Amino acid sequence: MRQLIAVADCWRQARRVIAFTGAGMSTESGLPDFRSARGLWKQRPESLATMEALVGQPDEFYFFYQWRIAKLWSIQPHAGHQALAELQKAGYLSQVVTQNVDGLHQRAGCREVLELHGTLRTVSCLNCQAVYDSRTLVPEGSEWERAYQEGTYRHGQECRCPKCQGLLRPDVVLFGEPLPSQAWQSAIAACSQADLLIVIGSSLLVAPASYCPQAALDNRAKLLIINQDSTSYDQQADWIVREAAGQVLVKLRNLILAMQ
Ligand SMILES: [Zn+2]
Repeated sequence: MRQLIAVADCWRQARRVIAFTGAGMSTESGLPDFRSARGLWKQRPESLATMEALVGQPDEFYFFYQWRIAKLWSIQPHAGHQALAELQKAGYLSQVVTQNVDGLHQRAGCREVLELHGTLRTVSCLNCQAVYDSRTLVPEGSEWERAYQEGTYRHGQECRCPKCQGLLRPDVVLFGEPLPSQAWQSAIAACSQADLLIVIGSSLLVAPASYCPQAALDNRAKLLIINQDSTSYDQQADWIVREAAGQVLVKLRNLILAMQ
């Protein structure tokens, strides 16, 4: 608790606080890790999440994303998402930078969320670029999941643009596609002006995600890491909390708002 009080004190006085979130933030909402949905896919997710699969194996591609989108909309932001949103409303959080595509921060009420890998909340038309809520892509009823297991699943009209009949795609970054440069540049720019960076549920192992903490450290920002496992920035961190993100963020919110 003493450590959290020190963190809350620093957080309250910081002028630009950035939260950087990864997969660990979402698992507490019960979002299943699609990589571990063992046996559900007929091939590795890495080969499904590609434009080649959309074109060459549309049934596999669409089922993969329909399943993920359906699961995504069946869960809710957890108390940690709410705590960040409340801190932002109270003026204690400048920006959220996330590796997650689930949109849970926005659903909790966060603004200014930079999504480094795109989003599963929307789909867009490959032909006319019209954008739709991703629930458009999910077939009605529950038969489609069983049909896939039985090998009779076929993608249908829900995968077509209502305006022009072009194929819809999820607005996530597929393997082989470039990362959204606007979001990345904004994220690096935000981190390079931060005086406190809070890393939540990310191991920071992979570049370019690892550039964000480095940009903050180059600005002499304080670094708080909330992650169950070790990260590649543990050495440079001012504080490390190895607890579930939700409960830590709730405690910090309570401390910060009580200090007002
Ligand atoms: Zn269209």
